[in-house]
Amino acid sequence: MGLASLHVIGLKRARRGLVATMRSAPALMGCRSGGVVADAHSRVEVDVVDAPAMGRPVRVRWRMRRWVCPEPACPVSSFVEQDEDVAAPRSRLTVRACLGAVGQPRTEHASVNGIRRQLRCGLRTVWDAIRPILAGRGRGPGSFDRVAILGVHGHV
Ligand SMILES: [Zn+2]
Repeated sequence: MGLASLHVIGLKRARRGLVATMRSAPALMGCRSGGVVADAHSRVEVDVVDAPAMGRPVRVRWRMRRWVCPEPACPVSSFVEQDEDVAAPRSRLTVRACLGAVGQPRTEHASVNGIRRQLRCGLRTVWDAIRPILAGRGRGPGSFDRVAILGVHGHV
């Protein structure tokens, strides 16, 4: 499990941890609407919270490719790359950060607030990302059958 489809193009130490700037390798992309080969247009930077590394919070600055469909009548016209191995669409956490977060309450009885502190992000950010996994709708390591109490604190 990791971010194998992305390449690190920069790494810097920031006040709040490490920032890894990453992007995907060049590839052909078909338009979601009709399958026409789309044209690479630009990149959009999106910061997602990754699993901590060596005890430090990590952010992935994902330089997502924006694609434009060359078909004039296409209802999609443009779209941004997605990779559900990296992060669910619109999620602010990487998949591995989510799996680490939902694994902790099982193994260490950690609270969501504790996870938030480790990842150094907001409670809502953590909760929005892991809620689909806990509900069994997203990717994740099975059910939470053995969890008696999941510590959720704050205004969620
Ligand atoms: Zn199209």
